[in-house]
Amino acid sequence: MPSHRLAPASPGSPVIEFRHVELTYPGPPPVRALKPCDLTVARGDYLVVVGPSGSGKSTFLNLVGLLDSPTAGTFLLNGIDTAALPDKDRTALRGREIGFVFQAFHLLPHRTALENVALGTLYTASRGRGATAERHARARECLVKVGLGHRIGSVPARLSGGERQRVAIARALAGSPSLLLCDEPTGNLDSRTADSVLQLLDELHVSGITIVLITHDRLVAERGGRVVTIRDGVLVETPVEEARR
Ligand code: ADP
Ligand code: MG
Repeated sequence: MPSHRLAPASPGSPVIEFRHVELTYPGPPPVRALKPCDLTVARGDYLVVVGPSGSGKSTFLNLVGLLDSPTAGTFLLNGIDTAALPDKDRTALRGREIGFVFQAFHLLPHRTALENVALGTLYTASRGRGATAERHARARECLVKVGLGHRIGSVPARLSGGERQRVAIARALAGSPSLLLCDEPTGNLDSRTADSVLQLLDELHVSGITIVLITHDRLVAERGGRVVTIRDGVLVETPVEEARR
């Protein structure tokens, strides 16, 4: 049995639990990018993190996404203490539980939409005979879910910005993550296209996925159920009504 299965996700536990989590980049000079932070994100939450450029949003998301580790404090992901994990279990946990969507899409230019999305299943798909066909079937299903069933054979250059971001979302969904992390997903899109991408995220949220989305756009912040403001590395929960003002 692969060792990452030894630490089962506990169904009752929050998806994200930060206990006095801090991150200081070593520098020089050292940068205290995230000051001691306590935060709980429950299954099914839609959390939006707002804050000006340089406030620590990406730092926060990289921690949640297991791309970086706290320099102090405890981070539990689905009840699993992430600090205790060997690298390969950490990578496996990330592949199994987390989907990423970035501002710049990060699609491979010479691969079709289908191939790009199929790459999102590499960690979770079975191996051996029939595995490629299975991965492609899953990729097709995810592209249909994001409204791109008719563009599966297109390379990114032939797709609009909004369509590229949909492909990136389909890739993030391909591994059936419990948590979708979005770093400025509408930052490169015009407002109408941005709105349709946000509508897609709303639908995914309604279907049960937990979302953490970071943005510097107050209008985007209105979409979430919870808003956290980050300033100089300090996270403060903000009532949604206040965030709308
Ligand atoms: P945001 O995403 O809100 O724009 P970041 O999380 O990227 O902010 O950055 C927060 C702070 O940490 C900034 O002062 C930034 O310059 C600093 N920072 C980010 N990454 C590094 C790094 N790898 N090394 C040192 N400082 C960094
Ligand atoms: Mg950033």
